[in-house]
Amino acid sequence: MSLRIKATLQMKSRYTSQAASGLMGLHEAASQGSLTQMKDLLNTLTVNSRDNRGWTALMRAVEHDRRECVGQLLVSGASPSLTCKLGHSAIDVGKFWNRKACVDMMLPYNDADKASHHYFTSSPLTPAAHLRSDEEDIAGLSSSQYAQFIFNHNGKPLLKVTNRTDSSGRKRESLSLWKCDQEQLQQLKSHILLEVSSERLVFLGFDGESAPMFVILLTDSLVKTVTKASADAGTDLTLMDKSNYKGLLQLAEEDASIMAQSIGLCSWLNMYQYCATCGSETVIKEAGHKRHCLNTNCASQHSVQNTSYPRTDMSIITAVSSPDGNQFLLVRPQKMYPNMYTCVSGYVEPGESLESACSREVQEETGVDLCSVRYHSSQYWPFTSVLMLGFTGVANENSQIHIDENELEDAQWFTREEVVRAITGQHKSMMIPPPQAIAHHLVKQVLLDTFDINSKQTSKL
Ligand SMILES: [Zn+2]
Repeated sequence: MSLRIKATLQMKSRYTSQAASGLMGLHEAASQGSLTQMKDLLNTLTVNSRDNRGWTALMRAVEHDRRECVGQLLVSGASPSLTCKLGHSAIDVGKFWNRKACVDMMLPYNDADKASHHYFTSSPLTPAAHLRSDEEDIAGLSSSQYAQFIFNHNGKPLLKVTNRTDSSGRKRESLSLWKCDQEQLQQLKSHILLEVSSERLVFLGFDGESAPMFVILLTDSLVKTVTKASADAGTDLTLMDKSNYKGLLQLAEEDASIMAQSIGLCSWLNMYQYCATCGSETVIKEAGHKRHCLNTNCASQHSVQNTSYPRTDMSIITAVSSPDGNQFLLVRPQKMYPNMYTCVSGYVEPGESLESACSREVQEETGVDLCSVRYHSSQYWPFTSVLMLGFTGVANENSQIHIDENELEDAQWFTREEVVRAITGQHKSMMIPPPQAIAHHLVKQVLLDTFDINSKQTSKL
């Protein structure tokens, strides 16, 4: 390394560490309510500067109820709608900690976009369902120079593995959805015998105006040959399995949604190779969106049957608060990630309303009775191919916990402080699921719903 580059790097590093210590000073001043010191630091620092967890000085001031500092930061241009790395804004922080005065001060400055969506549910693809039944159109699209292809084996996508070394010298592995364009697919075909017949091709839709996206269904032997041919060309591939679920929560959001859609569709195609109505063989139709029974006498051929089209099973998931809004029911299902607590969830049973399913699941698993439930939002969860329907619920007075030990390892009422610390990543021994999971947003919602529900008790925090 030349002396000049070394000197530049040293200057840069000095500048970065000075800026970081200035930022820490600003955040500390905001936390402690040191208005004069905070004003001085604002002369040299940007008001919305964030620390390594994405927190701003405004979030710090709000967390500690430093109203003078909150006022000064807002006047100086602090945004109450910026979010930290876990997706919480200063207004969320204010509601978590029941800082009503601070929240009231921030509301006029709030410019947040209220629209919300979940990870796995932000697909950029336009389905173009009218094209599915025309085999000629689908064949034409699959040979388009703009076509893109992903690969799947029995419901599991092929993923690209990238190894890199981070700034601290540690080796990291990251995953991405492996996509091929037409040229790459032809190169691959020139190395291996890869038949892409209509039986092995699933049309997902258009990415943008003219890029059709397909899934190629691989057999056992093709997975091996494709993986080997790709490794020879310098790209490492792996099939999705339980060991890489965590890595799949780090995908780009649009890729995560395309992957979720392909897993749901391809898992169904794999599981329904025989007709669920009569047991005969089925063949893939409508570019992977239908399984057609080969038995001409089968009832599925004479009426609309949900065995011929992709299934989406429903599961409810519920975040529960106590009637006074000061306690929150969280559970640890068997084999859950260490230290992690989440919401009660379970399949909807035949004949049940969603509300009944919430009450039944919470009662069965924890012994707690609910007096009300309210719908929040939904998220497709690809690892179990279910649509998670999210609710918030309020427990009856004096609900005692009785754990179903077949389902749960633990269930507890947690205080507001414990849950806020966990959701903001500040709890030493307790975690809740990350923002990529609907459970995170439901827990957040019950905290927001119970903001200032009982100011006398909550002001003790
Ligand atoms: Zn049949």
